[in-house]
Amino acid sequence: MKEARYPLLGLARHRMEIDGEGVTTLAAGSGCPLSCVYCINKSLLRQAPTWVTAAELYEKTRADDLYFRATGGGLCFGGGESLLHLDFYEALRPLCPGWRFTAESCLNVPPETVARAAAILDAFIIDVKTLDPAVYLAYTGRAQGPLRKNLEYLASTLSPERLRVRVPLIPGFNDAADQSRTEAALREMGFTKIERFRYAVR
Ligand code: SF4
Repeated sequence: MKEARYPLLGLARHRMEIDGEGVTTLAAGSGCPLSCVYCINKSLLRQAPTWVTAAELYEKTRADDLYFRATGGGLCFGGGESLLHLDFYEALRPLCPGWRFTAESCLNVPPETVARAAAILDAFIIDVKTLDPAVYLAYTGRAQGPLRKNLEYLASTLSPERLRVRVPLIPGFNDAADQSRTEAALREMGFTKIERFRYAVR
């Protein structure tokens, strides 16, 4: 079987409380199914990645092993859509026991992928955008697809502490009322860690 590799774009070390609990290293990877109008990673995602094996990523990040273990932190996979790389996380997991694996995801991926991810990863930071189908399509360039179903699955499968959901106010696309409707729908599903914020648009 072909060895799983991760399309690494860069590492950011010693992050505190940004990517989940404890000290984390963000491993930014390429690839995303959406084309968000205000995506701050557009130029990053266009760069050619370095395809690393699990052993190679472990070597690049092991210097912070003590920090990760002492604080309950670990690696956060983001940049683009992190759920595209589940084979890689499975290969990496045995190399670094005790590290928390957090995934940043838009959750607009097949339900089978989400079910598998729930069994592999420790925590999720979900960039919902909005649950309004028309606003979502206009902003991301893609229909919501299984987003709602995937949210309901995670909310009913994992404890709320493992799930952080981000609900932005997107200038020119939605408003505070839309944010409130999305937040209410998420609370109804069982999410408790919900972050409302405004995209800074230049
Ligand atoms: S989901 Fe995130 S990475 Fe993908 S296009 Fe939107 S903002 Fe960019």
